[in-house]
Amino acid sequence: MAEAAYETLPELETEERPGSAGTVVMKFGGTSVADPEKIRRVASRLVGARRSGARVVGVVSAMGYHTDELVALAHKVSPRPKPRELDMLISVGERVSCALVAMAIADLGTDAISLTGSQAGIVTDTAHGRAKIVEVKAHRIHRALDEDRIVLVAGFQGVSTEYDITTLGRGGSDTTAVALAGALGADACEIYTDVDGVFTADPRLVPEARKLHAVSYEEMLELAASGARVLQLRSVEFARNHGVKLHVRSTFTDEPGTWIREEDERMLEKALISGVTHTVEEAVYEVEGVAPAELFESLATAEVNVDTVIQMDSRIVFSAPLEDRPHAEQALAALGARWSEQHGLGKVSVVGAGMKSHPGVAARTFATVRGLGVEPRFVATSPIKIAFYLPHEEVDRTVRALHEAFELGSAEAERQHA
Ligand code: ASP
Ligand code: MG
Repeated sequence: MAEAAYETLPELETEERPGSAGTVVMKFGGTSVADPEKIRRVASRLVGARRSGARVVGVVSAMGYHTDELVALAHKVSPRPKPRELDMLISVGERVSCALVAMAIADLGTDAISLTGSQAGIVTDTAHGRAKIVEVKAHRIHRALDEDRIVLVAGFQGVSTEYDITTLGRGGSDTTAVALAGALGADACEIYTDVDGVFTADPRLVPEARKLHAVSYEEMLELAASGARVLQLRSVEFARNHGVKLHVRSTFTDEPGTWIREEDERMLEKALISGVTHTVEEAVYEVEGVAPAELFESLATAEVNVDTVIQMDSRIVFSAPLEDRPHAEQALAALGARWSEQHGLGKVSVVGAGMKSHPGVAARTFATVRGLGVEPRFVATSPIKIAFYLPHEEVDRTVRALHEAFELGSAEAERQHA
């Protein structure tokens, strides 16, 4: 299960700072800083928070598609760029945007300072391209906050224990923000994005989808692992492990978004199901003639995040994130296993904390799927998730039918926060 690959708890030097005003970490995604006008809007949003009295740390992603462009550029120069150099290159995107936001803040008459991940004290392991944070040394941020500045931190990056620049994996600015919120003892970590929050299903597919007011960490882990793209999975694990409250909301409005926090009664009773997620493409492998211990050992060594596993006699079927495909293929080749990849499969998942205590969710799920004449291929469950693979052309209508079967278009489905 992807969500079982928990990061070890990094050391966070959380300082007790009695009497100091609350700290807020505000993270802005790439679409929120995509052009100069938007950068100025982000700046004024940060200044607004500062003027209302909070100590403000801003974390920004690279502008628009800058990271993609840098990755593409690297591959135009070199067929297999060295991971260390690739990190050196792609960490630049966040450096650009955070310097620009700091400039725009200065123009509004507020003092700001931009810091790279390294300057901000984000120390990682040495796994280039997918580094994990091992420590946050927040003194420099504290000092700048004490000097009444807004601190901008370049997301997605850190410095390794070997003093090299590392990146945290695609979408890693979310993890930067959560780690800083944990280290600074922030009241909340606000994730500003181009959607209004977390929905009961992808609104592009299901127009009646509702914005959820509250989701538990566990639910969000399942939602993020199964196709909801709004947060990097690792950032949710981090938030759960350190009790950081997350608020996912729109950059472009003042509307409250979705809170991600500890589970409470209302999540268990009112709306059993929080959402139906999907992916249209999944990497599913079928392997024969290797013992499970051996197989999973070498996949783990290759840092492949194995998701669903099903064993049938001597065959093992497993899935893994698409971005882990090159690593998975290498590991399988090295084992000398007989293996194949199954193409054309998508995955639909029904997620909800209320499943733990209410029977009948699986029955309703599979009755609905059968009613559509869809044949689920592999089924995987956790205490709060039912997921199954299916031909990818069936994904859309299956999501719609399940959303309706669980009445997720109703006001009840939204849940309450506070
Ligand atoms: N810019 C990086 C990416 O595109 C990190 C992020 O956006 O969070 O993956
Ligand atoms: Mg993102």
